Amino acid sequence: MRRWPLPWQAAAAAAVGLALAVEALPSVLRWLRGGRRRPRREVLFFPSQVTCTEALLQAPDTRPSPAASGSPSGCQCSLPHGESSLSRLLRALLAARASLELCLFAFSSPQLGRAVQLLHQRGVRVRVVTDCDYMALNGSQIGLLRKAGIQVRHDQDLGYMHHKFAIVDKKVLITGSLNWTTQAIQNNRENVLIMEDDEYVRLFLEEFERIWEEFNPTKYTFFPQEKRGH
Ligand code: ZN
Repeated sequence: MRRWPLPWQAAAAAAVGLALAVEALPSVLRWLRGGRRRPRREVLFFPSQVTCTEALLQAPDTRPSPAASGSPSGCQCSLPHGESSLSRLLRALLAARASLELCLFAFSSPQLGRAVQLLHQRGVRVRVVTDCDYMALNGSQIGLLRKAGIQVRHDQDLGYMHHKFAIVDKKVLITGSLNWTTQAIQNNRENVLIMEDDEYVRLFLEEFERIWEEFNPTKYTFFPQEKRGH
């Protein structure tokens, strides 16, 4: 067998090396990006300071220009305009671009209600699961969400649908002790974890889909079945 002259061997080896490098480049870049960017891990503690959330909640086309009003948020009200636990929670929700799953026992906070409606208007697929006892109470946002065309399903059990979690874009899990009520937001000691974690998101999404199917309106029985046993 004839040996190739050295330069040819070197050139062939270089070509193979280059091809491998080009092949590996996307995964190397992904690895570098993933390595640099830490997944989101945040905890919000409540009660939240009362701050103005108007700038966050205005649809982009109705937002006054900062130049016109003089304040950086474009709002002139007397509330503080900095960050708070509530504004961070709103921001985490408003980051949704494709989907939002909500599994909430109590939902009466007008700001959180507006955020969810805003996402629905932006074309985000919003699905809500809630508790049948709480949703009928005064001030509940559930009726408004339904009126806006958002899909809501509820339990029909004696036990409460007592979860308090949200999943943003099937990527970020928001969960904790907080009921989405102004009373809880402003008065209670509560915690809310915001985490980007594939495994937890998958587990909570599975639980959501299970409940979503279980609360399918076709399965509602409005006439209680005769009790078996005592
Ligand atoms: Zn304001």
